Amino acid sequence: MDEIDLTQQREECERAEALRRVRNSAADEDSPSPDGGEEPVICRDCGAPIPRERLAAQRQAVRCIDCQRDYDREQALEAKLYADGRAS
Ligand SMILES: [Zn+2]
Repeated sequence: MDEIDLTQQREECERAEALRRVRNSAADEDSPSPDGGEEPVICRDCGAPIPRERLAAQRQAVRCIDCQRDYDREQALEAKLYADGRAS
């Protein structure tokens, strides 16, 4: 192995290290809970973190309150359309 190989290897190491640092700091920012350390639950529709209180009330929540309301309304509308369609 000559000098150039060693230099390249070192550069790759440093790049990987820098990447790891960036990933770690990004993960820290994403975590809303320094106490719990749990992964934040992300709204399936808008990608916003779902508030802890909502998850406490509804453990299976996959949407934030706003998106869930929209979703429920759409579901209700679809159910109504479906029922109307069957009736006629
Ligand atoms: Zn949402």
